[in-house]
Amino acid sequence: MSIELTELFDNNRRWAEDTEAREPGFFTKLLNQQTPQYLWIGCADSRVPANELVDLLPGELFVHRNVANVVVHSDLNALSVIQFAVDSLKVKHIIVVGHSNCGGVKAALHHWRLGLVDNWLRHVQDVRHQHRAWLDTVDPARQVDALVELNVLEQARNVCTTTVVQDAWAREQTVVIHGWVYGLHNGLLKDLAMTVSGPNDVDEAYAAALNGIRTRYAAPAD
Ligand SMILES: [Zn+2]
Repeated sequence: MSIELTELFDNNRRWAEDTEAREPGFFTKLLNQQTPQYLWIGCADSRVPANELVDLLPGELFVHRNVANVVVHSDLNALSVIQFAVDSLKVKHIIVVGHSNCGGVKAALHHWRLGLVDNWLRHVQDVRHQHRAWLDTVDPARQVDALVELNVLEQARNVCTTTVVQDAWAREQTVVIHGWVYGLHNGLLKDLAMTVSGPNDVDEAYAAALNGIRTRYAAPAD
């Protein structure tokens, strides 16, 4: 085993010991159940570790990550995660989280050819295409982050229109969809105010959040 991988096992052993010392019985308590309140749908980027940045422990956050936090209606992986989270775990919140300076979004914006992933990022290019007229008016230095935020809105809306979430709302199960962005430069989360708790809220929340993005990017960067 290489030195680097040995280090991972050493780290793991230390982490497990520290966790158990801090809270005796921590792992055995989690053996039979997990009761997370949140499903996090985020980017696979190594700089955006879901549990760490909201300071949640194992058992508290159900997580799905892929390149550029995309939710596609034909992606059985994402749909299965959403279905299990909503129907079995009964999570109360589904949060789509993009992040500033996302490499996937950047590649989509600039039409970079990276390989197979280009096909996946086609979904982000669709978002770009949809908002092209406005995006072209944004300062080029801020276009990646503007598209990151637009992408969060679109993917959050995609979550809202899955059959899983639509069915949950139809039986009056509480599940709220959110759109957030994480700042790589400061470690802080920003709520895009795309907050949807029922089928009738989708269009209004989307319009308000879109308006918020447009207003923010029309002003100088904060
Ligand atoms: Zn990313």
